Amino acid sequence: MKPFAADFPILSRPVHGRRLVYLDNAATTHKPDAVIEAERAFYRESNANIHRGVHWLSQHATDLHEAAREKVRGLLNAARADEIVFTRGTTEAINLVAQSWGRANLKPGDEILVTGMEHHSNIVPWQLLCAQTGAVLRHVPITDSGELEPGAYESLLGPRTRLVAVVHVSNALGTVNPVEEMTRKAHEAGALVLVDGAQAVAHQRVDVRAIGCDFYAFSGHKLYGPTGIGALYGRRELLAAMPPWQGGGDMIRTVAFEGSTWAEPPARFEAGTPNIAGAVALGAAIDYVQGVGLERIAAHEHALLAVATEAVQRLPGVRLYGTAPDKAGILSFTVQGIHPHDLGTILDAEGVAIRAGHHCAMPVMTRFGIPGTARASFALYNDERDVDALVAAIGKAQRLFN
Ligand code: PLP
Repeated sequence: MKPFAADFPILSRPVHGRRLVYLDNAATTHKPDAVIEAERAFYRESNANIHRGVHWLSQHATDLHEAAREKVRGLLNAARADEIVFTRGTTEAINLVAQSWGRANLKPGDEILVTGMEHHSNIVPWQLLCAQTGAVLRHVPITDSGELEPGAYESLLGPRTRLVAVVHVSNALGTVNPVEEMTRKAHEAGALVLVDGAQAVAHQRVDVRAIGCDFYAFSGHKLYGPTGIGALYGRRELLAAMPPWQGGGDMIRTVAFEGSTWAEPPARFEAGTPNIAGAVALGAAIDYVQGVGLERIAAHEHALLAVATEAVQRLPGVRLYGTAPDKAGILSFTVQGIHPHDLGTILDAEGVAIRAGHHCAMPVMTRFGIPGTARASFALYNDERDVDALVAAIGKAQRLFN
């Protein structure tokens, strides 16, 4: 694979006088020139508010915004662009479903089923919703290898389950969940399915129609796009039946003091001026990953993960968390005698950026009885030199501590 690092200007800046080895891609990815340039070009040449202007520039900005929506549709292989709602990211997309669909449809005793490996953003919105509606949140426990406990999902799915909300790829463990099969079983039980795709879209091809899910959420910034933009895919019939969750401009059809009426989706769920430049730059990010090819990206990251897993495991006192055979490019580990935060600090001094802590997945840490892990996560611009630097820096930390 061609070295893509040259497309990412930040990767050529040194940190602590050393080459930056960026392995914190699950938190956020860097942006290629094409994305930075798309956002800059929008403000230089196309900036106007969308939808409301009769002037040329407003129409032009609207066209660019809608072209970006079409690119998201293509990325997810949704049937129609109006099934794509722009949001600030995954978190907002999940809260949208909770507050719109959830409040309108759930009653006391209804159940929402998540897994023990969810990010807080796929737990807390459901807890808030349960407090509002009397619904009950249940979760599928996970095994020592960081996979769903065999049979537990099927036994927890029942007539009271109204929604299954499951992470596609775990940010804390790297586990890839069998979302297609889970969706089929949820539908057989009469439940809807929301998939949290925050860690999936940049690392593998995603096809919401093949998965069959009802909702799919992701964030642009983990896909080489800007922060503050992401999307929710929702099946058209569902979105059409859902009430607004935020009110304001753009989401209405008519407004009167006697009562207002709502626009059709996706506008119904996009109150206020959206992140127009962000959407346009997200479109550029989608063009970028599709230009490289998601299959190639997946193969490259899997190869790096294999090399890194083997190398890190050879070090004494290293324990890996998340050892499922079906894993994405996330390596979560502890090193005996070194707190993950200390490890992160020592690695940082070597120019190696990893994340240390609970990764917004506290229940995962509780499950394993640890305060946190060190996490190295790969992107298309990483290479074996980065793995070597990681391993050398861990070795240095071990020499310092022992
Ligand atoms: N879900 C998963 C699996 C994540 O990894 C993240 C971010 O780390 C989120 C949800 C939340 O994404 P955001 O903060 O971009 O809304």
